[in-house]
Amino acid sequence: MNMKLPSRTVERLSKYRRLLDKYKDLEEAHIYSHKLAALLNLTPEPVRRDLMLIGLNGNHRKGYNIKALIGMIGNTIDRKEGHQVALVGIGNLGRAVLGFIRKAETKMNIVAAFDIDKNKINTYLSDVPCFDLNEAGKVIRDKNIRIAILTVPPEAAVSTAALLLQSGIRGILNFTSVHLDVPQDIYLKDYDIITSLEEIGFFINE
Ligand code: ATP
Repeated sequence: MNMKLPSRTVERLSKYRRLLDKYKDLEEAHIYSHKLAALLNLTPEPVRRDLMLIGLNGNHRKGYNIKALIGMIGNTIDRKEGHQVALVGIGNLGRAVLGFIRKAETKMNIVAAFDIDKNKINTYLSDVPCFDLNEAGKVIRDKNIRIAILTVPPEAAVSTAALLLQSGIRGILNFTSVHLDVPQDIYLKDYDIITSLEEIGFFINE
């Protein structure tokens, strides 16, 4: 579905679904928006607003049907056929990210990895083939990949991102701590673990 939703809403919808997945086998189970909000440490208003935006109204007495809620979130944020995703840089972080995503229930399918290390090219990570980064253009086109996860060393981030965009990538999850200047129509998310950790280190009360 191509409905325009605020990015915060999409983030929260993804979180609601992962939380509710635990309850999905319970027939006819319901949840109140304030309960869902409390479980995610949110106030009920944005939760109700998010669910209204995707066309759901809770039942005053019972709340929201959990199965219907999960289904509606999927209809809204998933593409039926899923997304083909590439992992770029299969060092320690790349391998860990791949292992983590493969275990998650998600329609984000990692279908190719890229690296420049001769020892990694033409190998498989589980069932994901690793290609030479030089082949990115062809592989990305052939496999219809639009999203890349960037786990290369910082010094390679800018040039690698440029190559990916030239190859047709439209969205990047950037694990390098490097700022990437991308055109407005490219969706970029930075995920900087060290900065987050250092921020925590600075702000904790010892
Ligand atoms: P390993 O010991 O397996 O190399 P690492 O975590 O020490 O892992 P890094 O130096 O962080 O590896 O690099 C991450 C990965 O990115 C490596 O597999 C490396 O070969 C690869 N890499 C480096 N430069 C590039 C690049 N320009 N394009 C794609 N991959 C790259």
